[in-house]
Amino acid sequence: SHPIYARIDGPVIMIGFGSIGQGTLPLIERHFDFDTSKLTIIEPGEANGAAARETGYAHVAETLTPDNYKDVLGGLFEDGKGFVVNLSVDTSSLDLMKFCREHGVLYIDTVVEPWAGFYFDTEDNAARTNYALRQKVRDEKAANPGGTTAVSCCGANPGMVSWFVKAALLRLAEDLGAEADPKSRGEWAALMQTLGVKGVHIAERDTQVRTEPRQPGHFVNTWSVEGFIAEGFQPAELGWGTFEPWFPPNGHRQKTGCKSAIWLEQPGANTRIRTWCPTPGPQFGFLVTHNEAVSIADYYTVGAGDDPEFRPTVHYAYHPCDDAVLSLHEMFGSGQVQDVHHILDVDEIEPGGIDELGVLLYGHAKNAMWFGSRLSNEETKGLAPKQNATGLQVSSAVLAGMVWALENPEAGIVETDEMDHRRCLEVQMPYLGPVEAHYTDWTPLTDRQSHFPEELVESEPWAFANVLER
Ligand code: NAD
Repeated sequence: SHPIYARIDGPVIMIGFGSIGQGTLPLIERHFDFDTSKLTIIEPGEANGAAARETGYAHVAETLTPDNYKDVLGGLFEDGKGFVVNLSVDTSSLDLMKFCREHGVLYIDTVVEPWAGFYFDTEDNAARTNYALRQKVRDEKAANPGGTTAVSCCGANPGMVSWFVKAALLRLAEDLGAEADPKSRGEWAALMQTLGVKGVHIAERDTQVRTEPRQPGHFVNTWSVEGFIAEGFQPAELGWGTFEPWFPPNGHRQKTGCKSAIWLEQPGANTRIRTWCPTPGPQFGFLVTHNEAVSIADYYTVGAGDDPEFRPTVHYAYHPCDDAVLSLHEMFGSGQVQDVHHILDVDEIEPGGIDELGVLLYGHAKNAMWFGSRLSNEETKGLAPKQNATGLQVSSAVLAGMVWALENPEAGIVETDEMDHRRCLEVQMPYLGPVEAHYTDWTPLTDRQSHFPEELVESEPWAFANVLER
């Protein structure tokens, strides 16, 4: 009884067949009509390449590089048809989407990824930010508006959480008895401002636990270890709100573009912040840089220029699975990236684990509301094959993004903030487990350790000064 949402004419090309690619393929098979002889998986890795061959689809074992991507993809393209689903690391999202659009091929990815080498070989920290990566995509959109749809950053986060922000704003408006029927970007931004929302944490708690204990020297995670390490070493970064009364001493503003975000002189995955999720209540998260921190802050800006009237503070507040926390602790402590990388398979996770991923809208008359998905690994097993709860939140967002792109094939380059959140959530919701709103009276000043002096901003509980652990 799974709905077929659309037909994909021409080639379906998947780039990367790791944890997310392997989870996304069964959803593509389930929900789209396409010519199976025209689905190709580009996957250079040994184990993931073997998994690709096992599917029976065409497999290209090539590593995409700046030198070969046009030949490899061009050899598979039929102009004006088909879909490229990019779920790889170390490939330039910008180059791939430009090439697809030149050929009239639809495109989707889950992150603005650069070519191999960028994350660790770039010397200038401002250039290593997600702000810089995103701004290049926005500049391309501005230079070449419209045309074939290319959906940028459509996973769980970035991705689904932007649809959650809109759903949460409508819910908050209803609970506050406020009129709300926003239609344009400006109206959404005005709604957030008038509801009194000061900022948004993308607040996540992953409680998935492996049956076997983690071994020293192993980096264990519930999704790409390579991807997490790369973003974890990027500078901590956040959308910077107009209400903030304090500026971090090691913070930097951006000099060009929309300037919606700032970055700190420290790696995100080694930066702790205070946040809140329904299961643990108050908790530490890591200030890992993410595209949505920059895009949501930009989308909800009221006014223009360097001194807008309103902009929310927006950032990721990520408590990964406990094994990943230990893996980070070992990696930063030793200065060595572990040799063994392991992504938890759905069947090696203890019953009871969930990925709780939502948006915490704070600062308004009802203090704070978390709105999100509380998907368990056990429920995931019954919903879709070959992935854990984290994977399904991502792959179902890719599915929703693909449906939207097929229904809107000439929308140009878009981010998830710019898509119809109702339609996308309608497609995604069957895969998200309980999606709930929870209010809390917690603030970053609640239950502070009081034995040592802290430089807090008592007059503004939600100030980033109180959120950032220093
Ligand atoms: P993974 O590490 O399991 O798989 C990545 C795959 O890319 C690997 O199989 C690897 O061999 C392949 N690859 C590496 N270099 C390549 C190249 N040059 N050309 C083609 N393929 C190449 O990662 P994953 O967990 O499947 O994640 C895939 C992507 O999705 C990553 O970029 C990750 O950051 C992103 N992601 C986004 C979200 C989100 O919510 N937005 C969540 C999870 C993952």
